[in-house]
Formats: sequence, C-alpha cells, structure tokens
Amino acid sequence: MKDEESRLNAILSSMAEGLVAIDNDRKVIMMNQAAGILLRTAPQEATGRDVRDLLVFFREDKELPYEEVPIERAMTERNIISVSLLDNLSVRAKNGQLFPVAMMIAPLLTSGEPSGPAVGGAGAIILFRDVTKEREIDQAKTELVSLASHQLRTPLSAINWYAEMLIGQEVGTLTDKQKEYLQALSDANHRMIELVNSLLNVSRIDLGTFAIEPTPIDFASIGKSVLSELEPQVLAKKLKVTVEHDPNLPAVSADPKLVRIIFQNLLSNAVKYTPSGGEIKLAIALTPPNLLITIADTGYGIPASQQAKIFTKLFRADNIRDKEAEGTGLGLYIVKSIIEVSGGKIEFDSLEGKGTTFRVTMPLSGMTKKVGAKGLT
Ligand code: ADP
Repeated sequence: MKDEESRLNAILSSMAEGLVAIDNDRKVIMMNQAAGILLRTAPQEATGRDVRDLLVFFREDKELPYEEVPIERAMTERNIISVSLLDNLSVRAKNGQLFPVAMMIAPLLTSGEPSGPAVGGAGAIILFRDVTKEREIDQAKTELVSLASHQLRTPLSAINWYAEMLIGQEVGTLTDKQKEYLQALSDANHRMIELVNSLLNVSRIDLGTFAIEPTPIDFASIGKSVLSELEPQVLAKKLKVTVEHDPNLPAVSADPKLVRIIFQNLLSNAVKYTPSGGEIKLAIALTPPNLLITIADTGYGIPASQQAKIFTKLFRADNIRDKEAEGTGLGLYIVKSIIEVSGGKIEFDSLEGKGTTFRVTMPLSGMTKKVGAKGLT
C-alpha cells in the first residue's frame, strides 16, 4: 500500500502538466508539483481550498463570468471539457500574473452509477499547462501573414493600375480578344486584392491591433450604398431586392469602414448564394437599446449539420462549393469579430434549399474608440 502510494506520488510529481483533483464541492483534494509551480502555490497549501479561488480564469484581461468557467461547465454538464490555445483563456497565478492555458477537465462519476446521463458526481480531475510558447508561435505566424499581405498590396495595386490603363485604351487600341483577356486578368487581380485584404483583416483581428474610429453614421445609407455596388450581380441574376428601414433611425456612433465591411459581406453572400430569380431583403429597425439589421435571402441555405461552423476561418459549406467557386471562407469570421468587438450580436436561421436570414444587433450606444496600429480595409 505504502509502495503504491509512493509510486503514485512519484508519477504525479514528475508530470510536466499541472494536475488538480477536486471534490464535488469544488474543494481541492490534491494538487501536484507542476500545478504548484504554475499557480505559485505550494500543493499542501492548496488542499481543502475552493478551486474557484485557486484557478481564476480570464479572457483578455476580463475575469470570465461564472457560467463560462470551464470547471463549472464540466461539473454541471458532467462532460469532459477541453480548453485549447484557440479559446484564448488565461489563469491567474498567486503572484497576480496571468498565463495562457490549455486544459482538460474530466468530471468523475460516483462508482456504481448506471451509464447514461449521470446525476450525482464525485468531483473532477483538472489537467492544465502553460501555453505561452505556443501563443508566441501563433502570434508570430499571424504577424507574418499580416506583413506578407500588407506587402502584397503594393504590386497588386500596380497591376490593377496598368490593367485599367490598357483596358481604357490609353496607350493604343485593342482587339476584342485582347480586351477580353485583359478584363479577365483585371478581374482575377481584383479577386486577389480582396483575398489579400481579407487575410490582412483576419490577421489584424487576431492580433487585436486594428483601430476603431467611431463617428456618427447612418446605417441605412451605408447598406443602400453597398447594395448599389452589388447592382451588376443583382441584375445579372434577376434578383428582387427590397430595403425597409425605420424612418427615424438615429445616427449611431460607429466606424463607417467596419459597418461597410459587415454590410458588404452579408449582402454579397446573400447575392452570391441565391440562385437567379430569388429575393433579398434588407431591413433596419429600431429596437432600443439596439439597432436590428436583418438580411434575408431565398437562396441555397446552409446545411443544418454545418451551421455550427460557418463563423470559423476558411469554412465553406458543401452545398455551395460547386455552385459558387468564388469565396474565401473568411468573410463571416471577420463580420462576427467586428460585431462582437462592438458589443453586438449576430445570429442566423437557415434552411437548405429555402434560404437564410442573418440578424445583427448593434447597440445604439455605438462602438467604443480603439486605438490600434491600423484600421481594417
Ligand atoms: P465565403 O467567402 O465562402 O462567402 P463567408 O465566411 O462569407 O465566406 O461564408 C462562409 C460560408 O457560409 C459560405 O461559404 C457559405 O457556405 C455559407 N454562407 C454564408 N452566407 C450564406 C448565405 N446567405 N446563404 C447560404 N450560405 C451562406
């Protein structure tokens, strides 16, 4: 028995990952040495303490609300919960310093319980490690994408400029074939510029370095102006477009570039993913304390099994990939990030083959100014 105990102790103390075992009242039963080092707390000092005081979670520099704390979720849902680098969570050590964390919480079920959803429980095992290094590597990768896409913009603009001059026949007349090929070249270049801009935006969002410059704006006129830019595609597909908005929409303090990006992505998706003859509706309503923007289409819809993924980077649903080759899968990630930084919310309903409705709520109190290296483009 003694032998077994010392073997177990040796295993626990040689582990590189922090391990904390808690009982059903969230009291620490035991903690290994690695956890002690990470939390700057001696293991024997932790025993008997409430784990909620020992492992305090933060997202950015804000303490996580109680119901979002992964340990609580694992205990109430009685499910294994993993926290990865992408969840962007940190834990505060006793010296007050935050460190980024990856974690796995496995609730323990009382022995002899029947299988199926467990009611009672016997605490949980928490395994965690410091992911500062991984976060630094991830950051370096994002910085490289940011730098590369920024640098790519200059030569792409030059191509655009010269192609426009040639197409405009400023340096000599062109045959129809030459015009056609140059137009194809210019269109491809435009798509490349859009892709590079999206990558630049994603990297600025991920680095948290983009600026927000609010000024009083009229959401309806930005929405309409984006729609008028989409007119060639709308006409080509014979789509019916309707716009409705409250006549007394107040000016809201928001960054016009960011609002344009939101409308641009949602409206161009509605146009892109609706077949000829379909309908698109844009509505803006005053629902204090918010502005409610609704963009509805009668298009291809999003398959139910893939709806959970559509705000993730590079995701494109199966049902549209062969119908619509153009697309990066970055638009909705950018839109959601902008809306969330602004204190708003985005939701959608979609039925495959019937259509999709996106609803964006933006607080009338407006966006908060954020100083950053650059804005989004
Ligand atoms: P993409 O560049 O592919 O349009 P987005 O991030 O804007 O990227 O959208 C991600 C995916 O969500 C799309 O590829 C498509 O599968 C789906 N999607 C977005 N909007 C709509 C819509 N209005 N109707 C149907 N599917 C949509």
